[in-house]
Amino acid sequence: MKQREERPETAAVHAGKLQIPANPASSPALFQASSYEFSDLDDVEAVYGGARAGKIYGRYGGPNGSQFEAAMTELEGAEEAAAASAGMSAIDAALGSALAGKRRSILATAECYGGTYSLLEHDYRGSGCAVEYVDQQDLAAVRTALERTRPAVLYLEALTNPLIHVADLPALAALGHEAGAVVIVDATFATPMLFRPVEHGADLVVHSVGKYLGGHGDVGAGLIAGKANLVRGARDLLTRKGGTIPHFEAWLAVRGLRTLGLRMLRHSSNAVAVATYLSGRDDVERVHHPSRPDHPQHALAKRLYPSGTGGMIAFDLRGGRRDVDRFLRGLQTIAIVHSLGEVATTASYPAVSSHRMLPEDARRELGVTDGTVRISVGIEHPEDIVRDLERAFAGLGERVRA
Ligand code: PLP
Repeated sequence: MKQREERPETAAVHAGKLQIPANPASSPALFQASSYEFSDLDDVEAVYGGARAGKIYGRYGGPNGSQFEAAMTELEGAEEAAAASAGMSAIDAALGSALAGKRRSILATAECYGGTYSLLEHDYRGSGCAVEYVDQQDLAAVRTALERTRPAVLYLEALTNPLIHVADLPALAALGHEAGAVVIVDATFATPMLFRPVEHGADLVVHSVGKYLGGHGDVGAGLIAGKANLVRGARDLLTRKGGTIPHFEAWLAVRGLRTLGLRMLRHSSNAVAVATYLSGRDDVERVHHPSRPDHPQHALAKRLYPSGTGGMIAFDLRGGRRDVDRFLRGLQTIAIVHSLGEVATTASYPAVSSHRMLPEDARRELGVTDGTVRISVGIEHPEDIVRDLERAFAGLGERVRA
């Protein structure tokens, strides 16, 4: 073997070249690189100018991020997609892009995710943007609020947390567009396997990728998809502010997508089984799941979500917080986890987690009671999920009797 002329420490820096195989790998390679080499200044000009599809620097996006964006563009039926470092950075960039050059005013669903509420209150209202909230279930109220506030953005959630209300997106998007607003939809709970907001009129869809898209509780990332000009504006913001997706997260996200179809169907059918079980119990005051005939959007869900509504479900325990505490302690395989969309079934108590920043009366007004428990139903065998719930209910009964 030819000896290198350099001293060992120099050779250690340069020795060994990665051989990219001539035949493609059957699973994606991970490009964990923060920078890329150019052959000469013409090459620099070509890549910077977009004439050659090269990469420049980690923060500007790497091949794994591009792969995830291409996959999500297809799955969402969007013109373009941009991947972000978190769901919140995706939401922030989507809002920033939609508001650019417009009067800063947002009309948002009153049931938005708590982190979104904090962002809107601190960073948007806090910097002079007008922010108002509306019940997205009440189309007349949405129309009135749109006419009154003429917002630049109508911000919605496809399936809300934790009561799984279903946005009537075709109607809401039409109202938003009539008023000249950009319609942004958080579809984290749905994923494009169950619902594609762009097909129903959304201009932009946003996701927290660490939930169902990643699926295994090991990804921190976000995504924006939709109209090309709005996605490009969001991508520019992410690049300037350092909010683009890290390479390994993108690699994990693509791996997650490969089983998304199977997982979402199983999450959905398991959630129906759990909802059916819960609705037969006397200690449960109310089950919040679109499969239940008493759910306010039961018919709408059937129309918009023919394959199911995913794994999210909530129920109200009659005994309030004291019984919730006992119930959660009685679970053996279902862990208390303040995230969702993982393969394992998990439970959370919105009053102290997702909704803790809301004043109590505002939370109760939304329908989130002191007895509301949220379950992210996983992909286990449905009878084993029910058995663990049964165990927790049994313990509750014993302690109540004691
Ligand atoms: N949207 C929804 C519906 C969420 O549940 C979450 C997080 O729980 C987010 C957005 C924020 O995503 P991230 O935590 O990835 O920033």
